Amino acid sequence: MKYVGAHVSASGGVENAPLNAESIGAKAFALFTKNQRQWSSNPLTKASIKLFRENCEKYDYKPFQILPHDSYLINLGHPEEGPLEKSRAAFLDEMQRCEQLGLDRLNFHPGSHLNVISIEDCLKRIAESINFVLDKTKGVTAVIENTAGQGTNLGNAFEQLRVIIDNVEDKSRVGVCIDTCHAFTAGYDVKTPAGFKDTFGKFSDIIGFEYLKGMHLNDSKKELATRVDRHDNIGKGFLGEEVFRMIMNDNRFDNMPLILETPDESLWEEEIRNLYLLTGK
Ligand SMILES: [Zn+2]
Ligand SMILES: [Zn+2]
Repeated sequence: MKYVGAHVSASGGVENAPLNAESIGAKAFALFTKNQRQWSSNPLTKASIKLFRENCEKYDYKPFQILPHDSYLINLGHPEEGPLEKSRAAFLDEMQRCEQLGLDRLNFHPGSHLNVISIEDCLKRIAESINFVLDKTKGVTAVIENTAGQGTNLGNAFEQLRVIIDNVEDKSRVGVCIDTCHAFTAGYDVKTPAGFKDTFGKFSDIIGFEYLKGMHLNDSKKELATRVDRHDNIGKGFLGEEVFRMIMNDNRFDNMPLILETPDESLWEEEIRNLYLLTGK
């Protein structure tokens, strides 16, 4: 079964996210559990937590259909001690918010070496950050997102994601989310059937589908291997519709959140409907 949705607004409180998801016909959703552009936010209130859980139940959103995303400020591979500690504390807070909401996974971008430390050292630092938060939390999987490899961001190559996983102690609580736009601009040619087969064959060999906890479905405003992260609406960018048809007809992407992060949110309802129409084609 496919669970397609979008990264919906939680403005006014996390309890609004399931309502916003339901209103566009989403069977999955992503959300920020706090303001993604600020370091600190007020704790979730008891009322907000209760309403979130009630709304999820009412519209039948189970934890495996929900993929919260962490703040953009966090860099779990930061080369300097002070900012690294700040990032780890913020990430722990985000994991604890997920625990409070009864959610089972948290999606994040791995981190950036900022040209100060080596790729290898940065990847190990990211894994240590994951170990730090997993040690202090229960029931929430840390889901590493592949990146476009823009600037000094790590996580564009599957091999890098593997190094992180290899250095995580509790492998039962680490996972991966693949963003189609990021994969494409990182150099994985997922737009053709041959490239799709090759990419997910590599994914299977290097990482393994047992680690796949969600997908981000985005078209790309930039061409293959440009290493630039610019999402486009489905069918409007350089990826086109074919990759999404292949995903919708491949059971390796069943039973996980498939999340749109496309720029024009007025199209989400239509995009979700159209993605389901690709099934069986
Ligand atoms: Zn993404
Ligand atoms: Zn992106």
